[in-house]
Amino acid sequence: MKISKSKFVVGTQCLKRLYWRVHEPELAGVPDAAAVAIMEQGREVGRLARQLFSGGVEIKSGDPEQAIRTTQELIANREVPTIFEGTFSNGDVFVRVDILHRRRDNRWRLIEVKSTTDLKDYHLDDVAIQHRVVSRSGLDLASSSLAHINRNYVFDGGSIDVRRFFKIRNLTERVERLQPKLTFLLRSEFRILAFPQPPPIPVGSHCTDPITCEFYDRCNPRSQMTTSAIYGESKQARLRNWWRWASSPFGTFQMISR
Ligand code: SF4
Repeated sequence: MKISKSKFVVGTQCLKRLYWRVHEPELAGVPDAAAVAIMEQGREVGRLARQLFSGGVEIKSGDPEQAIRTTQELIANREVPTIFEGTFSNGDVFVRVDILHRRRDNRWRLIEVKSTTDLKDYHLDDVAIQHRVVSRSGLDLASSSLAHINRNYVFDGGSIDVRRFFKIRNLTERVERLQPKLTFLLRSEFRILAFPQPPPIPVGSHCTDPITCEFYDRCNPRSQMTTSAIYGESKQARLRNWWRWASSPFGTFQMISR
């Protein structure tokens, strides 16, 4: 069995959530309009980040094996400066990298793009698993970074200055220090996934942090903390997030451009 980067990250929040995501994904709750809007915002920021690297080639294949082959072909072609959605596999984990940029010395920069205005703790596991899989696949990685929205960027009309809009943080040393923890997490995840039943993990604060779990109803149908209550609570949080986003340069840009 192989798992994707996003499933690995799900498992760092809750192993039961990972179990259901892999074995019974059809029973997940349907994301509401606010969640869909946040996802679309993330995609929009991702598209904007690509403007930082001209001449990039996107890998579009939905078949991971084909995507891995195409990635290797592009890596071998020194005329390709940047790869979007480069795909790698190692140790039964596969990852798609937002941006891989070739340096002049033919080493590579890995950049994960997030639509937040700061680095969050859970971003570290996200970048760390990519760093692990890509470097163990044989690519000569010089650095692994996170690009997020620069909260100090002031949008003054016209088009967005992407160089100032994004802040890129080099996380190489931090994600390298996380590798022993990742080894442990991966072993736990694959061990749990091989069980016939999900692990008996009770609900708790982890169910809404860093995001609200899509299996809350299924996990605890008789709880007083009903799905609507927890989603309601989450909507409040999302509303706050929405307001933060709307106040950010990118949000301002989107509202003006409508
Ligand atoms: S609701 Fe909570 S305990 Fe249940 S699967 Fe989701 S995160 Fe895990």
